[in-house]
Amino acid sequence: MLTLDTIAGLFAGYGTSFYGDEAISQTEHALQCALLAEQAGESEAVIVASLLHDIGHLMLAASTTTDMRHQETGADALATLFGPDVTEPVRLHVAAKRYLCATDPAYYDGLSPASQHSLALQGGPFDPAAASAFASQPHAAAAVRLRKYDDLAKVVGLETPALSHYLEMAGRARRGD
Ligand code: FE
Repeated sequence: MLTLDTIAGLFAGYGTSFYGDEAISQTEHALQCALLAEQAGESEAVIVASLLHDIGHLMLAASTTTDMRHQETGADALATLFGPDVTEPVRLHVAAKRYLCATDPAYYDGLSPASQHSLALQGGPFDPAAASAFASQPHAAAAVRLRKYDDLAKVVGLETPALSHYLEMAGRARRGD
């Protein structure tokens, strides 16, 4: 079961691996994504979702399965700790890219080559019916904002706050029990 300690352990154990085909690490990417959300004035839930949106990649790196649906793996695991204001933007962050590619031609052009390449593996742009079904879901707007932080969180050498800053926030964003 996921706890704040196991999350910290996943970053410590697997966060130094590269983020896909980008030239930064998984931990740097997560911290930059959280920082962009924080600088945009997002709620702590969305900042924590931004930090943890790719936790499924780290979980899959720690396991022997090769499930490519890291957004589902991550969101399902995070549901033991957080409510839907954190888990759903995580779950929807890949769909948000398909939505943005369908509704904003400039968005696709602005993606990195690696992200353009992975779009095809993720199913390509949504058709109009899928795009409107996506947009009608709760937390779709937060997922779209997270997606834009995700896309920008690839700056080599950028200074960010430490992981502990955002894990403290995650502690506050935990669901009451
Ligand atoms: Fe990401």
